[in-house]
Amino acid sequence: MKNIYKNSPSNLSKAKKILEKNNIIAVPTETVYGLAGNAYSNSSIKKIYKLKKRPKKNPLIIHYYNIKELRKDAYIDEKFLKLYKKFSPGPLTYVLRKKKKSKISSLANAKLKSIAVRFPKNITIRNLLKQLNFPLAIPSANISSNVSPISASDVIDEFGKKINFILDGGRSTIGLESTVISLYGKTKILRPGVISHKKIGKILKKNISVSKKTKELRSPGLLKKHYSPGIPIKLNCKKADKKTAFIVFGRKYKKAGNVFNLSSGGSLKEAAKNLYKTLRKIKNLKYKKINVVKIPKHNIGIAINDRLRRASH
Ligand code: AMP
Ligand code: MG
Repeated sequence: MKNIYKNSPSNLSKAKKILEKNNIIAVPTETVYGLAGNAYSNSSIKKIYKLKKRPKKNPLIIHYYNIKELRKDAYIDEKFLKLYKKFSPGPLTYVLRKKKKSKISSLANAKLKSIAVRFPKNITIRNLLKQLNFPLAIPSANISSNVSPISASDVIDEFGKKINFILDGGRSTIGLESTVISLYGKTKILRPGVISHKKIGKILKKNISVSKKTKELRSPGLLKKHYSPGIPIKLNCKKADKKTAFIVFGRKYKKAGNVFNLSSGGSLKEAAKNLYKTLRKIKNLKYKKINVVKIPKHNIGIAINDRLRRASH
């Protein structure tokens, strides 16, 4: 495809030039693919919201190469440092208090007092971030409320020709959005992900709660309808007729045309990685209904159930 660019020095400098002009590109991360823009620029941020048709009150995650750049924009504390040391770069997003003198566009964090920040691990996006003089605002590269993209071709599936530069970093290895933890006010998980509240609790040596309230948080990942393939989804099913796509998990299910196994070996990590790929495939096969079996509700299963619940809304 003409608009897909591999990770090479010349393509990275092309990407850099586009971003410096406050235009938008698509980028890989280990969680999902994103739309990236200069986080210091109001005009970049406006373009991102417009492309995604994203409600303006839903703040974006700001992506950094390392902690040095972050210090200009947010207050950090012991808790943050402990988690940063263990989990970053990687699929963990921190909500922190924003500094008054920060240059981050206030449109990017919905004019809140806090900002959400992450240090992605994917080598291609890290190569790019390293070369920039500004952090990147990167929400997922999908139209608001659709299934998130996990490959360069998924981005084309979402935006067609509207995005003319997609940096290709291979398929997202995690395949599910980052865990979001708030360290602003009470420490709690705002959005579950593959880094579970248990793993975080171990590092902080305390129990970490997973927030269920949606109103207080104003976060897109917490909007009721999200991650949706645009087809009715029924959860906790035991079977499905042949015309219905049947999403299953584990050994006991027989192969069939309409059966999509997230992990026949029963691995929640593998299931997380396959979830969006499977939903997009089912959508493109033009199924009219989806039934999903019960997925275990522990560890990464909490995140999978969270996305399925919203997708089914
Ligand atoms: P997305 O960019 O689609 O992966 O979603 C961004 C996620 O970041 C949302 O689900 C929110 O949970 C979170 N978020 C971003 N900024 C803030 C903030 N200032 N306070 C709370 N949550 C935030
Ligand atoms: Mg998203």
